[in-house]
Amino acid sequence: MVAARLSLKTRLVLGGLLVVAFSVGAALLFTHLSFVLLGDLDYAGAMWASAIVPLLVAPPAYGWVAVLTYRLHQANATLDTLARHDALTGLFNRRAFVEAARARLAGGETAQLLVADIDHFKRINDSMGHAAGDLALAHAAAVLERAAPEGSIVARLGGEEFALLVPAAVDAAALVARIADALAHMPVPAATGLKRMTCSFGLAAAHSGEGLDSLMSRADTALYAAKDGGRDRMALAS
Ligand code: GH3
Ligand code: MG
Ligand code: MG
Repeated sequence: MVAARLSLKTRLVLGGLLVVAFSVGAALLFTHLSFVLLGDLDYAGAMWASAIVPLLVAPPAYGWVAVLTYRLHQANATLDTLARHDALTGLFNRRAFVEAARARLAGGETAQLLVADIDHFKRINDSMGHAAGDLALAHAAAVLERAAPEGSIVARLGGEEFALLVPAAVDAAALVARIADALAHMPVPAATGLKRMTCSFGLAAAHSGEGLDSLMSRADTALYAAKDGGRDRMALAS
């Protein structure tokens, strides 16, 4: 109770003082007991007696530090996962996508970027409520993740917009057809009343040495062209 009210800094200082005080106290006690119980100590006896103190004090002290360090490491790993993933869909978020995609492109890998934006998503929210919209987003994310070829990076860039960085060898038109089919034929739970969901896609193949910003900008322009062209289709970046 009291410990919980103290700041971490104070608790660390107090913990340190306790360990030192306990070590010194234990050393004095064992030295005293050695003399009382064993009488006059010879050199070997004194050496054995002095080894007992660190043997008793160090393991619990180290164990305590190890447990705290392990818990801290676990907490950091959890925070890192939360910071890199979208809470609703479990996909990479924009930050993690940018990091992973930059590394992939910097490694000299040829790739193509597909951006997908759900069509008229606002209508889903407006007609069926925000919770149904969330279900629809989770459904779209699951479809994209399942359809993504091996070696792809899939992310929710924000709102109802997703990105897939796929290897250059992948047939993007066939991939988009598979995604569109899964979206259309796998209705989200019936309770939402949603029967068919479509996406518009923008596809840009990375030029040699092209950076991610330029690639994303070209894919975005293609996505707008797909929207302008009537939605539920893919447009290629120039
Ligand atoms: P378009 O076909 O032009 O893309 O139209 P749209 O309605 O899909 O696009 P618009 O940008 O007009 O609306 C996107 C909507 O997505 C608005 C916003 O409230 C909703 N949205 C964004 N994030 C979430 C979310 O996490 N959950 C839900 N339920 N809705 C979201
Ligand atoms: Mg949309
Ligand atoms: Mg959008």
